[in-house]
Amino acid sequence: SDIRENLTYPIFGQAIRELAQTIADDGYEPDIILSIARGGVFVAGGLAYALDCKNIHLVNVEFYTGVGSTLEMPVMLAPVPNAIDFSNKKVLIADDVADTGKTLKLVHDFCLEHVAEVRSAVIYEKSHSLVKCEYIWKRTDEWINFPWSVEPPVVRREGQVLDA
Ligand code: 5GP
Repeated sequence: SDIRENLTYPIFGQAIRELAQTIADDGYEPDIILSIARGGVFVAGGLAYALDCKNIHLVNVEFYTGVGSTLEMPVMLAPVPNAIDFSNKKVLIADDVADTGKTLKLVHDFCLEHVAEVRSAVIYEKSHSLVKCEYIWKRTDEWINFPWSVEPPVVRREGQVLDA
């Protein structure tokens, strides 16, 4: 369909505060926020400030190649996080959306082997997601336009090179 869920930067700011409040009200105090790049980085940064957590880690996962088109399975790209950093820690995985849930499952399963506890927070979860996140801001089944990826990359212009 042509229907889109449009998240703007102002609404994103509100969503993060509300998501963080839900996590705080639940009494979960993560030692580490593990963001799934690239979309989860925005979520992790916002949650880290709102939850007063100073320890952010990052994992790169490649899955989507376009609107609705995916690789067969998501893959963790190098460098994979060092498991030693996670031992006996309470981890909060942060991502923009659990769609099929395959990306979150990959990272969640990786964490399960190493950490004391792991929970997941997302702005959106779709109803067919095979992972059920502990913390969700909103449920939708539409394709979501995120403010950071709705526009194409900026065009590199001539004559702007400072260092050749
Ligand atoms: P999943 O593995 O849960 O299917 O999706 C993983 C990633 O695909 C998300 O973190 C996100 O980057 C991208 N993705 C999935 N659904 C959507 C969507 O509706 N809109 C956008 N912009 N990206 C999506």
